[in-house]
Amino acid sequence: MFVIMGTKEKNKETGHGEFFCPACKVTRHYIKYESAPYFSLYFVPLFKLGSEKKYIQCQVCHNIFSTSVLSQDARRMSLLAVVNDLENELKSGTPSHVIYHKLVAKNFDENLARVLSISLLGNTPKVCHKCKSYFHERVNLCTNCGASLADNSDVTFLEEKKAADKILKELKG
Ligand SMILES: [Zn+2]
Ligand SMILES: [Zn+2]
Repeated sequence: MFVIMGTKEKNKETGHGEFFCPACKVTRHYIKYESAPYFSLYFVPLFKLGSEKKYIQCQVCHNIFSTSVLSQDARRMSLLAVVNDLENELKSGTPSHVIYHKLVAKNFDENLARVLSISLLGNTPKVCHKCKSYFHERVNLCTNCGASLADNSDVTFLEEKKAADKILKELKG
């Protein structure tokens, strides 16, 4: 009788959730897997030979990542990258509400989208009194309607900005 022995890689699904995919650069669904080499007899895995390897897979681009992309630090780094991009867009004249909708479309939590879209407007954000758009402090003309911008001195807005600044500071760590 001929006995077939060997090793076989066994994958098992151990969880799932949302993460910031470094390849897609947006929030995506992931599945977490554990794989370990098994001793097999007649192609049936019998016992584990080595230690498990954990990895996660983005369900959209199907790229494989180490589970470290789920860590607090990795999340902070991806947030910082997003913040940097948004800040540049705002500085180049994109109105705050456009950034907000963009973030929501990228599956960002609505509260976080709101926080980012107003806390990244600089220290003295501008407002267009004609079309009610909010802009970064560096912008002088409304890219929406062409009117001149004024300092945004609306009390409710400034209160919200103060709260948003605080949240962003905590998120940046
Ligand atoms: Zn992806
Ligand atoms: Zn305007």
